[in-house]
Amino acid sequence: ARLPRLSVDQYVTGVRENNRTVLAQAITLVESNAPAHMDMAQEVIKQLLPHTGQSIRIGISGVPGAGKSTFIEAFGSMLCEKGHRVAVLAVDPSSTVTRGSILGDKTRMELLSRNPQAFIRPSATGGTLGGVNRKTRETMLICEAAGYDVILVETVGVGQSETTVRSMVDFFLLLMLTGAGDELQGIKKGIMEIADALLINKADGENRTRALIAKGEYNRVLHYLQPATTGWETKAYMCSSLTGEGIEDIWEVIGQFRETTIQTGGFEARRKAQLLDWMHSMAQDYLRATFFGNQQVAKLLPSIEEAVASGEISPTSAVQQLVAIYENAIMKK
Ligand code: GDP
Repeated sequence: ARLPRLSVDQYVTGVRENNRTVLAQAITLVESNAPAHMDMAQEVIKQLLPHTGQSIRIGISGVPGAGKSTFIEAFGSMLCEKGHRVAVLAVDPSSTVTRGSILGDKTRMELLSRNPQAFIRPSATGGTLGGVNRKTRETMLICEAAGYDVILVETVGVGQSETTVRSMVDFFLLLMLTGAGDELQGIKKGIMEIADALLINKADGENRTRALIAKGEYNRVLHYLQPATTGWETKAYMCSSLTGEGIEDIWEVIGQFRETTIQTGGFEARRKAQLLDWMHSMAQDYLRATFFGNQQVAKLLPSIEEAVASGEISPTSAVQQLVAIYENAIMKK
């Protein structure tokens, strides 16, 4: 990434002053995979850390066409009007291939992107979901340090991206489509189980009645599912991102969620658990990469794989051999 020669101090001060140019550059720094940038990014984050954590972090998911960007445009604008400062981030593992299938296209969220109280950042590209995950978490911290008090993390329902976003937010909102009962059958129970609210969008015009019916059906299903957050009942709501109906109500629901979970201690407990989770998954990524990236391991892996596949040795003894090779190799360093 091309970056200006700013000092750590300049990054930190610029972000704290919400200088949007510096803010964008600080995020680019965090997204960079260049070793020199990574060290500097960690120093910047370290200094910003005391100024983070004050926002409400909201994940928003839904199938393509569910109305995510239309909803975020309406919801974000409403929040700005109430005096909030809103940052919109995206987790889109597919964007590495399709070059930004979400948030990439400038016509999305046109109003919100012009709002001085909003900051929209397209998905980090370059690499694995693990990489995108780290970059999004650190971008979230930078935005908090810049004074954004509502962070919206958008994702498409691709692969692991929904669980990834769930693991970094306080509240997870799932946008649903109205329509006949057929999509109710198609919907994955697993995704409903990680949601703190289902929001049936496009509840307008002729769709409104169908939305009402769908709401009842979803609520019936939800009743039998484990709630995503202890002490909070996940329910279905309706809104129209076009007319604005129900948009304020969902903000109220999120407010109730925050109040309830702060009171029960669940809010803090989740954030702490998320930090530990994050640390463990980064450690695992690091170890996996250094283990399989080790020259000796990489060299001998094909023959050991063959021996396992042909039944010559057991997987367990293969692992013992690989670990011995690895330990030997790093001892010699
Ligand atoms: P995304 O792929 O989930 O980001 O979906 P979009 O926000 O791009 O919306 C897909 C289509 O649905 C667009 O044509 C929107 O205009 C339309 N749409 C979104 N929200 C609503 C709504 O509340 N009511 C109606 N009638 N249409 C909507």
